[in-house]
Amino acid sequence: MRGSFVYMGIVMNITDPIGSMKGVGPKTAALFAKLNIYTVEDLIRFYPRTYLSYGEPVYVREAEVGERVAIRASIQSYVDIKKIRNLRLVTCMAKDASGSVKLLWYNCPFLKQVFHIGQTFIFVGDLSIRNHQFVMEHPEYYTEQQYATLIASMQPVYPLTEGLSNKVVTKLIKAAMEQIDQLEDKVPECVIERYQLMALKDAVTGTHFPTNAEQLLECRNRLVFDEFFWFLVQMHYMREHTMKAENQNRITDWSAVDDYIAKLPFTLTKGQQDALQDIRSDMSGTTVMNRLVQGDVGSGKTAVAMMAILACVKNGYQAAFMAPTEVLAMQHYESVQKDLGEFGVRVALLCGSTRLAEKRKIYEALAAGEIDVIVGTHALIQDKVMYHNLALVITDEQHRFGVRQREKLSRKGQEPHVLIMSATPIPRTLAIIMYGDLDISIMKDMPATRKPIKNCVVGPKYRPTAYKFMLEQIEKGHQIYIICPMVEASENMSAENVIEYQENIREYFPDKVRIAYLHGKMTPDEKNMIMSTFAEGKIDILVSTTVIEVGINNPNATVIMIENAEKFGLAQLHQLRGRVGRGADQSYCIMLCGTERKEALDRLSILNASNDGFYIANEDLKLRGPGDFFGVRQSGDMLFHLGDIYNNADMLKTANDAIAYLEQTHYPFEQLAMPEEMTHVQL
Ligand code: ADP
Ligand code: MG
Repeated sequence: MRGSFVYMGIVMNITDPIGSMKGVGPKTAALFAKLNIYTVEDLIRFYPRTYLSYGEPVYVREAEVGERVAIRASIQSYVDIKKIRNLRLVTCMAKDASGSVKLLWYNCPFLKQVFHIGQTFIFVGDLSIRNHQFVMEHPEYYTEQQYATLIASMQPVYPLTEGLSNKVVTKLIKAAMEQIDQLEDKVPECVIERYQLMALKDAVTGTHFPTNAEQLLECRNRLVFDEFFWFLVQMHYMREHTMKAENQNRITDWSAVDDYIAKLPFTLTKGQQDALQDIRSDMSGTTVMNRLVQGDVGSGKTAVAMMAILACVKNGYQAAFMAPTEVLAMQHYESVQKDLGEFGVRVALLCGSTRLAEKRKIYEALAAGEIDVIVGTHALIQDKVMYHNLALVITDEQHRFGVRQREKLSRKGQEPHVLIMSATPIPRTLAIIMYGDLDISIMKDMPATRKPIKNCVVGPKYRPTAYKFMLEQIEKGHQIYIICPMVEASENMSAENVIEYQENIREYFPDKVRIAYLHGKMTPDEKNMIMSTFAEGKIDILVSTTVIEVGINNPNATVIMIENAEKFGLAQLHQLRGRVGRGADQSYCIMLCGTERKEALDRLSILNASNDGFYIANEDLKLRGPGDFFGVRQSGDMLFHLGDIYNNADMLKTANDAIAYLEQTHYPFEQLAMPEEMTHVQL
């Protein structure tokens, strides 16, 4: 049913383009497009990233340093404006009954007209101490009257893009919410009743504009249920499909793999051997392989992939190896060349940034069967790519291989074996739900030559000592990663941060130490260049944002220092840490904690105590309650917007139960109309 609504004289449909809303011109619409928001409904479904609460103002001296606080202070000095490079630094002093605080903004010269000596405002922001002085950087400011309406409320904070302010987005969402009655609930009635789900409209409203944390939790739970439910509906289709798929590409000759194993400079772990055995019986069996190989960072998943590829090629078929980033794809491409070249395997690299002429050549060679293995990013399964006889698709550190991708390939007459490699530590009970369509091989053991990583959690004062330690490691011929603090607000700022950090640390190191940096704003070519130079050992210290998080392998790197470790999720920290300890040498992970808050330190101490991804995920879970969604997300690599399989494990189980119920009652699944916005959960 498609209703319509008369709004200020304009008939507005929930399906109307966002450009038809009052106050949204082509420019704003283009910005929203960057956020994948095209219609009024998309806007309604655009949920806050977090919420800001506005508490009672506290005294400066009693406020928690390092926290977001509200203070009521009167202006003590004229507003001062200094020009530093291209920045205009705006400062002013204010004080309350307990003490004074320096207020500081960038590029807001108009504040000179706002603040006058003697006036009182409520300032809200992060309080810090610099040079023995309280400082608030870029605080929000309110008059008493304005603040009275904010206090005790929860204000939504939306994930933004440059050029769109939270204020504007909030206002537009409020306007769009007028059409909420048109929002259709596509979850079957019987499921809603059986699990007593809250009405969708109420859930959406309460998620945008909650009145309190408890209500918010309830509303979000309904939306989280929906995400899981639609994901599992797709899983249902997938199970139906793959159970039927016959193996048309039998891989029976595994003799080359035996040669490969004999030539390896190490012996396979038990986990690697078992995974290989599973893959071998799948690929030679009667139905198509659909397997997840799960192994902690550094457990040696790549070697397993290599063996599957080799067997596939030696039996006369093509293989595709997909990675989530170009940098990782590049690394895998080099490994395939190095490891499998001597077996006569012809390999090519295909990424988004590959030159057009080169791409065309690759397409042709692939279709003609002149390339055996293609390594790359998602570009590999685009419509343009035609294969000669693709029999194996491997995705590394990747989410999953969805129904759509499968469909795409089978439409081209391919029904390849699928192998998914993941380091996400996920408890068995959840794995069975999340990967219900896959067989699972778990690699529990690490290569025997590995020494466990030595960890420490330290404060900022330790930095110079850390640099000294790094220098010693560099003099032994090793290499270092430094992960810079994240800047949530913008990619540009993160990039600047990395550059500045890298300049600042030069004074701690002799000139001969080669320092380079890496961030997400660099072009794929630049990133690849830096990563290969680093892999060749020609860079000693690599200062980077988290772009290096996924899968990068340089066994010669022995130290990783993570700035602002408290801002990362434990799973993410564990992945980052996994960049070292990949060779035979003792490796070290230095977690620099920017706060002394007990919870932060407790959380990090979990990592400090263990190098085991499963243990870490479980312990982290114990530390958080089910409503703890304001913190760092645990499983950032799962494709849910709101749901988190760890924190919302109960909802995942409920949704799974609902699917089982529908299956039992022979519900006609084909009648389910998946909401468009839910398709994101599948790659
Ligand atoms: P991950 O499972 O994180 O993808 P990789 O496959 O990149 O790990 O392997 C990490 C490192 O361990 C690589 O340098 C690889 O050569 C090495 N490696 C793999 N298997 C073994 C093994 N059985 N014994 C010793 N080293 C191994
Ligand atoms: Mg890997």
